[in-house]
Amino acid sequence: MSGRRLLRGVTRRLHRGGWNTAVKAEVSGGVVTLEGEVSSYHEYVSLGTAIGRLSGVRGVVNRVTYPGRPEPEHRRGEQRRLRTADVVIVGAGVVGCCIARQLSRYHLEVVVVEKETDVACGTSKANNGMVHTGIGEKMGTLKQRLCVEGHRQFDRLCRELQVPYRQQGMYIVLTPQSFASLAVPTALAQAVGGRLIPSMILRRAKKLGLPMRRADWREVLEAEPHLTRDVLSAVYAPTYGVTCPYRFTIALAENAVANGVQVMLGTEVVDVLVEDGRVAGVQTDRGTIAAPWVINAAGLYADVIADMAGAREYTIHPKKGAILLFDKETSHYVRHHLSLLRFPRTEHYKGGGIMLTVDGNLQWGPTITEIQDRDDRSVTREEIDAVFEHYQALLPGFPRQAVIAYFSGLRAATFTEDFVIKPADAVRGFIHVAGIQSPGLAAAPAISDLVIDILRRQGMDLRPKSHFQPRRQSPPVIRELSDEERAQHIARNPRYGRIVCRCEEVSEGEIVDAVHSPLPACTLDAVKRRTRAGMGRCQGAFCLPRVARILARERDRALEDIEKDRPGSRLFVGPAKCLLEGEHED
Ligand SMILES: Cc1cc2nc3c(=O)[nH]c(=O)nc-3n(C[C@H](O)[C@H](O)[C@H](O)COP(=O)(O)OP(=O)(O)OC[C@H]3O[C@@H](n4cnc5c(N)ncnc54)[C@H](O)[C@@H]3O)c2cc1C
Repeated sequence: MSGRRLLRGVTRRLHRGGWNTAVKAEVSGGVVTLEGEVSSYHEYVSLGTAIGRLSGVRGVVNRVTYPGRPEPEHRRGEQRRLRTADVVIVGAGVVGCCIARQLSRYHLEVVVVEKETDVACGTSKANNGMVHTGIGEKMGTLKQRLCVEGHRQFDRLCRELQVPYRQQGMYIVLTPQSFASLAVPTALAQAVGGRLIPSMILRRAKKLGLPMRRADWREVLEAEPHLTRDVLSAVYAPTYGVTCPYRFTIALAENAVANGVQVMLGTEVVDVLVEDGRVAGVQTDRGTIAAPWVINAAGLYADVIADMAGAREYTIHPKKGAILLFDKETSHYVRHHLSLLRFPRTEHYKGGGIMLTVDGNLQWGPTITEIQDRDDRSVTREEIDAVFEHYQALLPGFPRQAVIAYFSGLRAATFTEDFVIKPADAVRGFIHVAGIQSPGLAAAPAISDLVIDILRRQGMDLRPKSHFQPRRQSPPVIRELSDEERAQHIARNPRYGRIVCRCEEVSEGEIVDAVHSPLPACTLDAVKRRTRAGMGRCQGAFCLPRVARILARERDRALEDIEKDRPGSRLFVGPAKCLLEGEHED
């Protein structure tokens, strides 16, 4: 569509929404830039969404202000040269780490720069871990194509990386609740829910080449005895999978490191260097890294990084999702993922569900809410109630009090809602990998393939290394071993016999392994993500001081210097009685 025609459409939409006097629009190459002022954040989002929906719009850069809009922070960079590289990847989430591992197959100097103290500290640590098949995505979108392709790779990839992955299967269920907010007559709900919608889902599955089938209520109730008796119909998707999103990301990063990639943690990109229309590297708070290629995988901050390069083609507006986690004693309540379809559908939301994590906890959620603050990971009372209200209909007899934790993650949505994976229009060598909301985890392997393809087409010299090692050796996980295997490990290293986290059965040896792994765990949360110490029923009440003491000993630090996650997040001001206990009392 021509720029002029698109601008006419945008202007008409602004007029219809009553924004025409307060907001001005410019169009360039399908990207609409909005400037002006509106009355609230809510209106800012409505405006961006309305423009993003117009046909022919490739991106929406929403520079409109509103009362209370936070001023962009300008962090100071360090001038000294840190190093040179062929490629800099900004962001060590699942996407950045997957791209890094793919690039480590070639003769290239690759650096991943991450502002947090560990990988998987953004959205990649706070999601459902579902390896979606693509059935829930809008047909014809890039995210759907990459999800279908990514899902196909997961089994092999998880075997190579020695990360847990299970094809749990999913029942997509319709009950009278599915139509509760439409107030349709029961007979109509039965006809639509019982036949029409399952047929539509199956037609879509056929087009995508996904093995799905109709399941009658007898089958569903036999497979899921705790499910509501009110099932109208269900569709079974046997290949729906689940992994642990942060262990998957850590494994990708470790394998990339083993193949020569440098991961620079605690290093924030504060500027992108551009010379004569080509990217020349990044400036960080620790110094500059010169590189002819920069891959922007900065999640919620991808638009900020793109702005630094003068290559902004989208705006990120976060959507929060809250998730509840339940005690393992409730794990018998489901055997497959369960998803309850509800109508009318919330746009760009699969609806979440009830699922069993790879570690055996039930998980309900997520919700979906637009929020302004890109760092707000709170969970409100209303969100907890919303999760219960939404999913309790599936498992009416479920004991709510079994909840042991809740958390939220933020989806990095753009106003056009699809993934943005492409070379920048304005700056050569700068690649956008943005708008990676769900199913970004499932799609990550295919996203990285697409990035390699783009780099090749853009002229990067990609010579394969003959010594690339795709396999990663996972350290032992004592709770998963047989008695005989445990005895062998303990004979070799008695620390595997000292249990530090009783809820999750994590030994001292596993914590030591995490601290000395290829991507060493430097904080309590980094140890927790690698070993599960502190993730059980007591949520670290028993083991946290003990883990801290081991971490301090192994890193040769004072206990008071041990941090929870971010720099400065110290938990101890001095020695406590439990911290002074002898090592063998653990
Ligand atoms: C509630 C919820 C549930 C979800 N469930 C699923 C699911 O079941 N299955 C699925 O496939 N997907 C799911 N998703 C989506 C999935 O989690 C994301 O698509 C994926 O994690 C995105 O990864 P990423 O690497 O792009 O972003 P991130 O993990 O956010 O990584 C970006 C990184 O960039 C870093 N960064 C930012 N700015 C800078 C800077 N200036 N300098 C250096 N580093 C910087 C950040 O610190 C961060 O670590 C879910 C998302 C949410 C919110």
